[in-house]
Parts: sequence; C-alpha cells; structure tokens
Amino acid sequence: MSSPSDSSATGTIATASQYVGRFAPSPTGPLHFGSLVAAVASYLQARAQEGRWLVRIEDIDPPREQPGAADLILAALEAYGFEWHGPVIYQGQSRPEHDAALQTLLDRDLAYPCGCSRKDLADAPRGPLGAIYPGTCRAGCDAQETAIRLRTTDEPITFDDALQGLQTLRLEPESGDFVIRSRDGLIAYQLAVVVDDALQGVTEVVRGIDIMDSTVRQIWLQRLLGYDAPGYMHFPVITHPDGDKLSKLTGAPGIPTDEPRPLLLAALAALRQDPPKSLETASTREIWQWAIENWSPNLLIGMTAVSIETLPGNVLTDDPPMP
Ligand SMILES: [Zn+2]
Repeated sequence: MSSPSDSSATGTIATASQYVGRFAPSPTGPLHFGSLVAAVASYLQARAQEGRWLVRIEDIDPPREQPGAADLILAALEAYGFEWHGPVIYQGQSRPEHDAALQTLLDRDLAYPCGCSRKDLADAPRGPLGAIYPGTCRAGCDAQETAIRLRTTDEPITFDDALQGLQTLRLEPESGDFVIRSRDGLIAYQLAVVVDDALQGVTEVVRGIDIMDSTVRQIWLQRLLGYDAPGYMHFPVITHPDGDKLSKLTGAPGIPTDEPRPLLLAALAALRQDPPKSLETASTREIWQWAIENWSPNLLIGMTAVSIETLPGNVLTDDPPMP
C-alpha cells in the first residue's frame, strides 16, 4: 500500500482486472463527510472489481487552494484505511501535458482566443450549465489578454450513466463554446481532468451527481483529442437537511481521523449499503472487507440526493461518538 509518508511505493493489492478508478479531491480544505463518501464509492467500485484505485490531488487552481490541505486529505484517507496504487498524483505536475493538449486544439482550430469580459456576457441567455456563450470571438478577437474557448457543435452528446441512465446535451445551443484556459492562464478543470484521466488510463469515473453537468463537455474534449471515453457513474450528492450540498462552503467540518469507524459506517449507509450491526464493533479492516465483498452500487440507481438526516450518528461532528 502507499501512504502519504511512503508515496513512491507501488500497491500490493491484487489487481486482476484492467479497471482503473480514481479519487480526485481539490486541496481547498480537509476531507469532509461528503468527500469521504465520494472516496468510499470510487474505492469500492475499484476494489470490488479487483482494479486499481488512484489518488489525484487536483491542484490546478492555486487561488482557491488552502496550504496543507493536500496533506490533511491524504492523512485522512490513510486513517480511514484506504489503500491506493502507485504514488499520489498531483495534477499541477501535468501542466506540460495540459499545455500540449491545448496547443493541439488551437493548431487544429478547434479552440480560439476569447477576450470577452464577464460584463460582455452578462446579457447572454442561460442554459442548463449557466450562461450560453454567444460565439462573439469565434471569427477572431483583438484583445490582448484572452481566455481560450473550445468550439462546440449542435450534435447531441450522449452517455449512459451507470446509475442515472441516459444523459444527452447539445453543447452549442445549450451551453456554448466553453473556456479551457482562463484569461489568467489557468488550465480549466474540464481540460485538466480529461487529459489526466487519459494519461492515467482511467476506465471509469465515479463521482457525485453535482459534477454530472461537466460530463458532456469532458466527452466532447475526449472526442476532439482522440481519447477513449471512460464509463461514468454519478452517485447521489450528500446534503444538509435543507437540501444544500455538504461542502466546505456550507460548513461541513473536516472528518475526525482518530476514530474512523463511525463515519465509515455512515458513509456506507449514505451509499445505501446496509452494514450488519455486528460491524459496529469490528475493526476498520473488517468493515472494508465486508464493504468490498457486498458492494452493490445498483441500490443507488436513480437516486440524486441523500440527506444526512437519514444517516446514523452525527456526521458533522469533529469528534463523533461510537455508535
Ligand atoms: Zn469572446
């Protein structure tokens, strides 16, 4: 197994299949319960198929990052008994590959500079993914400082999500050409994720439904760059009782690392797995063993949200009592 203190080790878990999954947190704060559930879902989906599970820190947006957060996240994963393959991947280190993909798209005229300001786009119509870019700079742009946008078409883009079923979006009319490098030079999340998933051979992306809107844009990028499309599984988002997504912004605290078992069992409950009572006194290792052997993601089919009210214990405490 690999751990934060031993990040160059190679995994020792048997990998009998070609499955490659990943957990890709942004280092904007410590791991909270919502991100723990994301880690558990992607881990179980990989381990149940005897595949590889990678950890990738998405450190491509320095203004949003919190110093030390990556180490806190890795320490929490280790405390909860996750075992990942190979060294931890830092997305910022793939900048040369991100830049090469960006250049390929520019060279093939699939992307173009856009000097529009936020104000220029204030009156743009809105679609399901936000403002629809009206194509102002498609034919050229004189601005000194520009973002780079990817051209889109009105062809329907479809994918069959393992839990949410068939999803379709026409990018040009419903979202418009989208930014793949910001005006201040940062590679956009959509492009970085697509390049990194391809570099690392990821075969299935397992993540929260709150990111599902990004998927068609990522599939479009995969097509233009000639990458294989991974499978997708978007599980329900974990919410406060009022329906707001659990996040740093909505006050979700970092998970306690001294006693992982209560929140590990709560994460399994959030994923609608039904751990037997006997696991409440079991070791972390035994909980994982049960969870891997009994992983049934189909119990989540069609579910879009899980409220923390429905879960055992208090998942928002820094120091939860044993169940
Ligand atoms: Zn523009």
